[in-house]
Amino acid sequence: MASDTADSRLSTIRDRIARAATIARRDPADVTLIAISKTHGADAIRPLIDAGQRIFGENRVQEAAGKWPALREANPGIELHLVGQLQSNKADEAVALFDAIHSVDRPSLVTALARAMDKADRRPPCFVQVNIGDEPQKGGCAVAGLPVLLAEARSAALPVAGLMAVPPLGVDAAPYFALLAKLARDHDVSGLSIGMSDDFETAVTLGATHVRVGTALFGERE
Ligand SMILES: *Cc1c(COP(=O)(O)O)cnc(C)c1O
Repeated sequence: MASDTADSRLSTIRDRIARAATIARRDPADVTLIAISKTHGADAIRPLIDAGQRIFGENRVQEAAGKWPALREANPGIELHLVGQLQSNKADEAVALFDAIHSVDRPSLVTALARAMDKADRRPPCFVQVNIGDEPQKGGCAVAGLPVLLAEARSAALPVAGLMAVPPLGVDAAPYFALLAKLARDHDVSGLSIGMSDDFETAVTLGATHVRVGTALFGERE
């Protein structure tokens, strides 16, 4: 994407978030836009940073470790979120690199993250990822398993900031967003990481506190 369009893409997304929030009688400032920069190189990311975006998301530890240290060095105030599946053996690296982790989805990862946070004395906020459509191949804990996993995360002193989900493709996401919002209320969790390029306005009207937008900001991925 040409750098002269980064400004306009970003302001368009911000306007759409603000409009959806206003319709839902929410404060637009309560919605955090995470720019999902996976697969995109520094040349595509820099124009968005220059346009004022500071919060970015990646789905792979290795990819983020390769491109973000230099970008951060050059641009103070960057916040980096992990939105992809995390292997337990990368917990140390993830805790060192990321400022939030959206993919806590199983007890072994809770244990690994708790240990990594103790070791590093650094506690990035965590979202428990729910497989909201109960899809066989998808990341996230089963809806039925959420109470136990949340209890484990809390007793391990993980800073639980919210719930995260990626609803099934190709169907209306609204019922899934509404279900995740209900689960969050039922379990006294305040954050809701829902909404991507095709459905972030719906997510905002249903309570999203974090929307994860890639394609609408960067263009199509290879
Ligand atoms: C890639 C990705 C996104 C962004 O998706 P777009 O449709 O490109 O906006 C959001 N969340 C997660 C978990 C992703 O992997």
